Amino acid sequence: MTHPLAFVFAFFMGAAVGSFVNVVADRLPAGQSLVRPGSHCPVCGTHLRAFDLVPVLSYVWLRARCRYCGAAIPRRLPLVEAGTGLLFAFALASYGLSAAFAAAAVVLGLLVAIAIIDLEHGLILDRVVLPASVAALFMAPLWPLVGVEREFFLWSGPLASLASSLAGGVAGLVFFLAIVLLRPGGMGGGDVKLGGLLGLLLGLGGVAIAVWVAVVAGGLVAAALLALRKRGRKSEMPFGPFLAGGAAVALLAGPQLQSWYLGI
Ligand SMILES: [Zn+2]
Repeated sequence: MTHPLAFVFAFFMGAAVGSFVNVVADRLPAGQSLVRPGSHCPVCGTHLRAFDLVPVLSYVWLRARCRYCGAAIPRRLPLVEAGTGLLFAFALASYGLSAAFAAAAVVLGLLVAIAIIDLEHGLILDRVVLPASVAALFMAPLWPLVGVEREFFLWSGPLASLASSLAGGVAGLVFFLAIVLLRPGGMGGGDVKLGGLLGLLLGLGGVAIAVWVAVVAGGLVAAALLALRKRGRKSEMPFGPFLAGGAAVALLAGPQLQSWYLGI
């Protein structure tokens, strides 16, 4: 049993990572440096101190306003911090306190950043996806060493995990490339590359779950928006957030989902 305090620790670790994800989502699409200048209020420019930057809590005790000029703090900041915190707590429940938890946590932070940037800018950045793909490829044979077994045609171990990643990467690329070629206008090159990255990260079985969850969830949300007449049939809904969400589900509940699906 994981100690209850460990979940509190995981939540605040996730919230701190979420705070960095907010910086990434603000600065990377604009081509700004992630480290310089330090955190500052975008309205008055005052350099923020440690007690202004405590994830989630600062937002609450500052009552959603800048301490120095009173400008409203965007709601996205505490939402991303709390959301990433919850994801880390779920990861701890899935993996226990282990190296696998640390690896899953890194992947979850990456997924949140990709989802937020796509939601706000309609962009899936090569500057995020390409280096992450290289890292995922190097990580692939390590998963079994931290206790995450990824079988590939009844074969297991580091090489099977690498094979599963490569097959997943190709499958993700080909699947979305086919959609782009068959139905131009719906998805873009960013979704194709993200499909490849998720395959490399999750392996063949994992990317199948991620895409399945993303398609079902995306379809439900699109139908709901259409019913509420919030969007016309033509207007674009970014698919990256659904893919990132599907990948998080695959990462956190993949084995359980697989056995549930095979059971019915
Ligand atoms: Zn300010």
